[in-house]
Amino acid sequence: MSPKGKTCSKCHAQPNDKKKSVSCDSCKGLLCGECHGLSPTEIRAFGLKTRVVTFLCDSCKSTMAQLPLIMKKKLDELDKEVQQLRLRQNMLATESAIQELAERGKRANNLIIYDIPESSSDQPLQRQEHDTKEWKMIIASLTKKVNCDDIKVIRLGRQDSKNRNLSRPVKVIMKSKTDAIEVLRNKSKLTKPTKIQPDQTVMQREYLKYLRDELERRTSNGETDLTIKYIHGQPKIVNRTDKKN
Ligand SMILES: [Zn+2]
Ligand SMILES: [Zn+2]
Repeated sequence: MSPKGKTCSKCHAQPNDKKKSVSCDSCKGLLCGECHGLSPTEIRAFGLKTRVVTFLCDSCKSTMAQLPLIMKKKLDELDKEVQQLRLRQNMLATESAIQELAERGKRANNLIIYDIPESSSDQPLQRQEHDTKEWKMIIASLTKKVNCDDIKVIRLGRQDSKNRNLSRPVKVIMKSKTDAIEVLRNKSKLTKPTKIQPDQTVMQREYLKYLRDELERRTSNGETDLTIKYIHGQPKIVNRTDKKN
């Protein structure tokens, strides 16, 4: 039952009688008649085609005995790794939430205005004065409660040299968040084609998109009088007829 030329894995000798040698069922290593310690009857049993008993060499036996320990060690290692991954995931989520909050805070004083006509002047200072004047006129038409001093007005992006009539959006930095909110609250009074929007982060815009989809879904499911409203600066789906809102 032993392949030709194979030596005993214990004594390293060529087996004298190949019929007496046995192979380990796990590592397939050969053991000669002097080394395996099996009786002639047991050896015969290994020759049977339908045998159910297995034979393991000493080294495989001791490995098998250590298996529960090895498994436990591996499991402990895996457990530690999972915990570390969870911690890292939490850390990243928290970190990005903090960054998002800081970014929202930075943008809270800002407004983005569309369709304020560009000045025809080539002088940057004059262009700026033009934009500031236009913006102050818009504010005056909306509310008297806003402080118009020290407002910064910045055109966003490069001007299209081929189409100078195309006006770029304007970023306005108000003196305070309250001023920005006051303007937004009154923007429905605008008569010009001008559009005023809050300076939102990508996540805020995505969230608003999600709310609009949700509103559409609920409305098509038969709910009525739903609308999106800003409550303490946060957009929410509310019932128009609910007095609390
Ligand atoms: Zn041997
Ligand atoms: Zn073995």
